[in-house]
Amino acid sequence: MPDTGPIQNRTAQSPGCGPLFPTPGSNVKSTRQQLFEAVRAAGAISRVDLSRQTGFSPATVTQTAADLIATGLIEETDLPRREGDGGRGRPPVGLKIRPCAGMVVGVKISDRSNSAVVLDLAGQLLGSATLPAPPTARSTEEILTEAEGLVQAALQDAGRIGARPDAIALGLPGMVDFDLGRVLWCPFMEDSDIPLRDLLTARLGAPVRIDNDANLLALAELWFGEGRGLDNFAVVSIEHGVGMGLVINHRLHRGGMGHGMEIGHTKVQLDGALCRCGQRGCLEAYVADYALVREAHTALNLGHQSTCADDMLETLYRQAKEGNALARTIFSRAGRYLAVGLANVVTLFDPALILLSGDRLRYDFLYAEEVLSETRALTHRPGRPPTPVEIHAWGDLVWARGAGALALEFATETLVG
Ligand SMILES: [Zn+2]
Repeated sequence: MPDTGPIQNRTAQSPGCGPLFPTPGSNVKSTRQQLFEAVRAAGAISRVDLSRQTGFSPATVTQTAADLIATGLIEETDLPRREGDGGRGRPPVGLKIRPCAGMVVGVKISDRSNSAVVLDLAGQLLGSATLPAPPTARSTEEILTEAEGLVQAALQDAGRIGARPDAIALGLPGMVDFDLGRVLWCPFMEDSDIPLRDLLTARLGAPVRIDNDANLLALAELWFGEGRGLDNFAVVSIEHGVGMGLVINHRLHRGGMGHGMEIGHTKVQLDGALCRCGQRGCLEAYVADYALVREAHTALNLGHQSTCADDMLETLYRQAKEGNALARTIFSRAGRYLAVGLANVVTLFDPALILLSGDRLRYDFLYAEEVLSETRALTHRPGRPPTPVEIHAWGDLVWARGAGALALEFATETLVG
């Protein structure tokens, strides 16, 4: 009998039609968690407004709030008076997260600098640390040691030496299987297919989640930035590599196999330039800084002279600004490839907004008007306005804050439940 493929096999097994309902209770947050998250998102909110906003009855809100207060997760707080209340009597009482109810750490490991933040359960920054990263490939043991050092340094900065975080999340570039907690490939790690989540959990003595760093950038926007009010958006990051995070219905979309959106390794040229991943023609091989450095080495006529990549990029950028035609061509070519990548994002996902983020956006050729107009030209949207593209340059700690958001998400599930 011929193999009819997985789809035919699955449909043959199920009588009836229409999507099959998930197991009751799966993927549904408890009332406690929904109300806790609504309080955190508001900062401070009255019980009446909480009921109105979440759709839970006033009785359910009152009962659940009492329960959350009794377990030390939220507390009462005075709310600002509303206009017209005369300013007499007690100020109105609301609810807020009890900051000392929990603490998490977010860590970003890279090949330039490593950073970490400590956040309380309300998402407030308690401390941070930034340490230089070795520029060479590292063993798994070295990564574990770096992560441990960062967590300790950030806890020290927060005045919490020796405290056990309720959750730790770590982000790094490359291909990460979120569900299994494995790093399949990372451009600066010697080993591949590493069970890094479990190794870190054992080393750090706290529950750990790991994720691709571009996903964490999207989480940073969703929790702390431009994406808080948007139900779907994409974040494209350009640094040493090119990454993407996609939010759909206010949730990070990691794909069906837990690998996320690897825009940097989508192909823009058959048999094209060699990428760090070992394949050819990836977008990253034309846009990321190592691609620019590769071309700059020739354009600046450096021969065999060894020059620091950052210095070379700065020189290339300066020469482009001063009118060097060859240097300008390198940036404009990279910009055109970026336009192809952005147009593909628009065509595939139709996001409400694309946020461009990353250190390389200092090189404004990469988001010059020509790049954005080329993106529009490559996108077929008859009768519809072009997808807005915004530049959002954060400080160095944004990646770690995104990791902090993932850790908060994890800690909330376990503490609030
Ligand atoms: Zn690649």
